[in-house]
Amino acid sequence: MAFPQHADYVIIGAGIHGMSSAWRLAEKLKEKGEEVEGRIVILDKTGIAAGASGVACGVVRNNYFQPSMRKLMAHSVNVWESDPEGLSYHPVGYMQISSESMRADVTSIYEQQQAIGYESTFIEGEQASTDYMKGYFADWRAQGITSVLHEKRGGYSNQTKTMYALADKVDKLGVRLITGVEVKGFVSDSGSCAVNAVETDKGNISCEQIIIGAGPWARDFWNMLDLPKQIDITQPNGDVAKGVDMWRFWQLEEGVLQVDPAIMHTNDGVMPPVIHVDTDAPLHSTVDGSLITEEMWGIYYKPDWHFGGVQGGASPYKVETPVDKVAIDPYGPSSPEFVSGPEFAHMWVSALAHCQERFADTMPKYHKEPSGGIGCFTPDSFPVFDHVRENVAMIADSNHGWKMIGVGHLMADEILGEKQDLLDPFRMSRFETGDLHPVSNSPYPWS
Ligand SMILES: Cc1cc2nc3c(=O)[nH]c(=O)nc-3n(C[C@H](O)[C@H](O)[C@H](O)COP(=O)(O)OP(=O)(O)OC[C@H]3O[C@@H](n4cnc5c(N)ncnc54)[C@H](O)[C@@H]3O)c2cc1C
Repeated sequence: MAFPQHADYVIIGAGIHGMSSAWRLAEKLKEKGEEVEGRIVILDKTGIAAGASGVACGVVRNNYFQPSMRKLMAHSVNVWESDPEGLSYHPVGYMQISSESMRADVTSIYEQQQAIGYESTFIEGEQASTDYMKGYFADWRAQGITSVLHEKRGGYSNQTKTMYALADKVDKLGVRLITGVEVKGFVSDSGSCAVNAVETDKGNISCEQIIIGAGPWARDFWNMLDLPKQIDITQPNGDVAKGVDMWRFWQLEEGVLQVDPAIMHTNDGVMPPVIHVDTDAPLHSTVDGSLITEEMWGIYYKPDWHFGGVQGGASPYKVETPVDKVAIDPYGPSSPEFVSGPEFAHMWVSALAHCQERFADTMPKYHKEPSGGIGCFTPDSFPVFDHVRENVAMIADSNHGWKMIGVGHLMADEILGEKQDLLDPFRMSRFETGDLHPVSNSPYPWS
């Protein structure tokens, strides 16, 4: 098939957001009785799931301290639940297990979940929390846990299976997905804010609307669109922070313990919820007993047949390289610079053993292949979902985004003329008005 010279809708990035946007756009056009064939094109410089969507742990949760994130997540969980089998989604639930320093934050999350009808149970107090966890895992032994938020919805999905299922879905709807095409820039008439064409290494494609879902490459598209590299940010107290970098990178630390995933079955022999522990209990090495940290630490893990073991991660670390110099390519495990190393493995496996006796002595089973990847974060570490030029919408999820399968749907609806209130708290204007999201006590930049 010839390379297209025109498409009404050009979507850049064959990740979760590009696919989700294309899915909804195509469905809506069909619902309206309009033609889809030839009108929607997805472009990707590499292939399906070549970016963060191909390496994501796949966890889907509602657990966010920020009220607007919670509502948005509830919407996305509805999308996951609309076709669990087709989307390779496992609705096993999710547990946020925390020490005292996080109890107040998690209490407020629970209360907000009740207010929006999102099903969860909240256990408080050290003995009650231990009893609750032992009810699932007889070998539970993490000390100093004083609350457990058990979300009955959410769980995880198998990233590449989901992505190929989405590719199949959009293909059947008449969307054209072209891989191996690199977007190099955008063409506008002088003085106009609108983009007329997307410039690629295979030629220009004229278009009406563009959606960018570029994951870690958000920085590069921002620069291609001549958007400001630094911005001023009004703080909630009215002070203005001048010239703050628009983007920064964090390295996401993940890995796999190559054991039979069934090792994680509950006392009843069934799949457990995704486990997420944040605590300030001293963490000791499972190898030699030495102290790893007395600071707040966090891990998450789940049995995963797709990864072939128990898979999970820990808090990320900030990439200190100046933002314009960070090499995003080659991405993920292929990166010579940004992969999870032995220090992560030691901490994560020790933390598993801290929580459950069954993981004692499993260090030799750690899969030593490179894993993880970098994420591109906004100044407040929350997403930007906005029209950054007149006809260019950007889904820059600040690395929150595998679970956010519904955002592409919302953006597609907005492009077709229905403004979406759920996206409003994530507009660029918040940095100017000071309507920033509240900050929690979690050790992660994204909770
Ligand atoms: C290790 C790790 C674990 C994670 N775990 C989770 C999790 O458990 N749960 C969760 O909710 N989120 C998780 N995330 C975050 C999540 O993976 C991302 O937020 C999300 O996948 C981003 O999706 P995307 O569609 O925006 O971008 P991506 O999936 O990165 O897709 C962007 C695409 O753009 C293409 N592209 C880039 N530049 C160009 C160009 N110039 N021209 C054409 N194409 C281009 C790339 O090839 C790529 O395929 C994790 C992230 C990492 C790194």
